Amino acid sequence: MNVTVFGTGYVGLVTGACLADVGHDVMCMDIDADKIAGLERGEIPIYEPGLEAMVKQNVAAGRLRFTTEAAKAVAFGRLQFIAVGTPPDEDGSADLQYVLAVAKSIGEHIDDYKVIINKSTVPVGTADKVRVEVRNALEARGHQVDFDVCSNPEFLKEGAAIEDFTQGARIVVGTDSERVKALMRECYAPYNRLRDKLMFMDIRAAELTKYAANAMLATKISFMNEIANLAERLGADVEQVRHGIGSDPRIGYQFIYPGCGYGGSCFPKDVQALMRTASQAGYEPALLNAVETVNRRQKQTLFTKLMQAFDGDLSGKTIGLWGLAFKPDTDDMRDAPSRVLMEALWDAGAKVQAYDPQAMRECRRIYGDRDDLILVADRIQAVKGADALAICTEWKDFRAVDFDWLKQQLASPVIVDGRNVFDPVRVREAGLLYFAVGRGDSL
Ligand code: NAD
Repeated sequence: MNVTVFGTGYVGLVTGACLADVGHDVMCMDIDADKIAGLERGEIPIYEPGLEAMVKQNVAAGRLRFTTEAAKAVAFGRLQFIAVGTPPDEDGSADLQYVLAVAKSIGEHIDDYKVIINKSTVPVGTADKVRVEVRNALEARGHQVDFDVCSNPEFLKEGAAIEDFTQGARIVVGTDSERVKALMRECYAPYNRLRDKLMFMDIRAAELTKYAANAMLATKISFMNEIANLAERLGADVEQVRHGIGSDPRIGYQFIYPGCGYGGSCFPKDVQALMRTASQAGYEPALLNAVETVNRRQKQTLFTKLMQAFDGDLSGKTIGLWGLAFKPDTDDMRDAPSRVLMEALWDAGAKVQAYDPQAMRECRRIYGDRDDLILVADRIQAVKGADALAICTEWKDFRAVDFDWLKQQLASPVIVDGRNVFDPVRVREAGLLYFAVGRGDSL
């Protein structure tokens, strides 16, 4: 099939590459000319395991191509995937300007039947808005062309995006058109062999499914952080509690890791957008409000612990930081807990000496050159001469550590661990002061 994908970010590029990989002919369109020029030279703008090789192979095989030209992109695919950003507006609701801009340009260039597929995360009712935008653009041209709009929310997670796209739990498609169902079935058939993962439902239900899924996962995390904060005050170890509750299959082990808060481009913005949708619908989203409040508070936890460890004065201190990305295996720092920590440390007059296996370039892009941010080449240099070590991301590289060596590097023997990476007994045996999340060690 000929497929067009608008947007070459985490979702668009993965969608384009994975669909090309099973034999579809794919054109990816982006308004960012630098990104497209880079992709044409074989440069992948993001870090995502396996993506670079997949893009290169499919470009070489002639199944994947890039453009900045909307007319070319619209003419190319029977299927037109919209995978552009939906960042939070000032009031927290999803900003639809990029989605609607794509809809408009489809309307400006469409000449034969297309299925317009919303893969971006968008509030309930957006498919109707896309339909209106396309129709208005068509009318402005004095044209009439048949088209359908459907919802196909994406559930991939960064760091495992290819695996999730190709082997995800479900493929949700919101449509009431048999024609769309047949085309979507054909598009996804190569990834739908083991069992039928396609779930057809109403468009509004599909749009809400995406928000409900992310809000549920965020709820699990905030719930566990609440228990962790309580455990800390009660002298209980939340990691033992986690094992205890996760063993119940009704609860499960996934997404119950306590930590320094959830970040990334999805959970914070999607929870806020759903809160906004709820209040616009006249409903007070009490649970979602709490999920968001707990998370905001949790992102302060490492700073609070550091302040307490240094008697309320961090000025002139240097804090070694392991992990900048919002989670391992990505370079994404959108809404990352590391940012909240670094900014609080700078406000308090401290310096940050940071290392991340993938997010250094992104950190430099966000913060530029500043005296109180030293980006170093590895985890060893991050702790050399630092007054304390803070851990924000549980990269594999940070898990096995010689604690005696670590103690020698640090000017004060303080570790604040936002991901509960280490065994507290082992760390403390080495004479380090170890403050993790909810491990019965209330400072
Ligand atoms: P992103 O910011 O990484 O990429 C968006 C891309 O769209 C950018 O390259 C931008 O230049 C491009 N773009 C903007 N306007 C355009 C236009 N008019 N035409 C063509 N391209 C245009 O975004 P992302 O992380 O890939 O997210 C895309 C959508 O998917 C969002 O709605 C997001 O909520 C959702 N989503 C993201 C993830 C994730 O893990 N990142 C997972 C599931 C769903």
